[in-house]
Amino acid sequence: MTPLHFPPTESPSAELHGVNLAYPKGPAVLQGLDWQLLPGQVVGLLGRNGAGKTTLLETLLGLREPQSGRVQLFGQDAQQLDDAARARIGYVPQFSDLFEAFTPDQLLAYFRSFYPRWNEAKVEGLLSRWDIARDQPIRKLSGGQKQRLSIIRALAHEPDLLVLDEPVSGLDPVGRRDFLRELVDQVLDRGTTVVFSTHILSDLERVAFNVAFLSRGRIALQAPLDELLERVRAFTGGVSELAALLARLGAEPLKRTPLEGGRERVLARLPAQADAAPAGSEAVNLEDLFAELT
Ligand code: ADP
Repeated sequence: MTPLHFPPTESPSAELHGVNLAYPKGPAVLQGLDWQLLPGQVVGLLGRNGAGKTTLLETLLGLREPQSGRVQLFGQDAQQLDDAARARIGYVPQFSDLFEAFTPDQLLAYFRSFYPRWNEAKVEGLLSRWDIARDQPIRKLSGGQKQRLSIIRALAHEPDLLVLDEPVSGLDPVGRRDFLRELVDQVLDRGTTVVFSTHILSDLERVAFNVAFLSRGRIALQAPLDELLERVRAFTGGVSELAALLARLGAEPLKRTPLEGGRERVLARLPAQADAAPAGSEAVNLEDLFAELT
């Protein structure tokens, strides 16, 4: 598919290069995957169920060792992070193990002892704002409350990289996006790099500044969401006629779908300075992009 475009220079918070990972007797999940997360980026990782989002996030964090390729966090090998680098990471797994017999207060006190930095005021504020009973056993909390508690735990030490695997899966549909928005607001002022996975498109709106599509073991495309919606257009026509049109527009083809009679449909990204709606092209929405790119 398309080459990835990343802004140059700034050293990445996370970097994966040529990563291959297959489960024993299982599918090849990551296949020559390249990916970068730059400081301060908020990225929604989008992919169908089973595409490998959890596998990718675990690999990025050094929790899974790929068969080949390079994974670095803050410039260090993800498998061999020192304590200082480890303390810069916050992780909310899809299914958190939260010591069910502890109360939220006890749990947080326990984790506080591991971190040199800990923002108690933030913890206090979020516990009351997100409505978490602090002194009853965690097993009595609802699924959504446990998920929020797990997020508070991951935010408390003010990580520079926050990785969330389906962070709102335990919340009802109405609350999902608003909660995500608030979550992202919590970290934006610190310039935290955030990546969260989802298979629900509406989670991304107003939340993810960048979207990355995981498909067939690779990041098929990563770009700012508003830019994608503005600049990716669908073109339909004869193959040679379209090739000439795209070349004239300087548009970069992302996906080609052959049609009958020597025609094709091409999803292509227009260059920044182009006319936003060239004749012969149609707008695409996020659903179209998801369907075509994942
Ligand atoms: P996603 O998070 O996008 O739903 P996953 O990373 O959970 O995808 O899974 C990707 C693929 O790898 C799926 O086909 C899944 O069945 C398989 N898989 C995930 N975990 C394991 C495992 N521990 N052992 C074998 N196969 C696995």
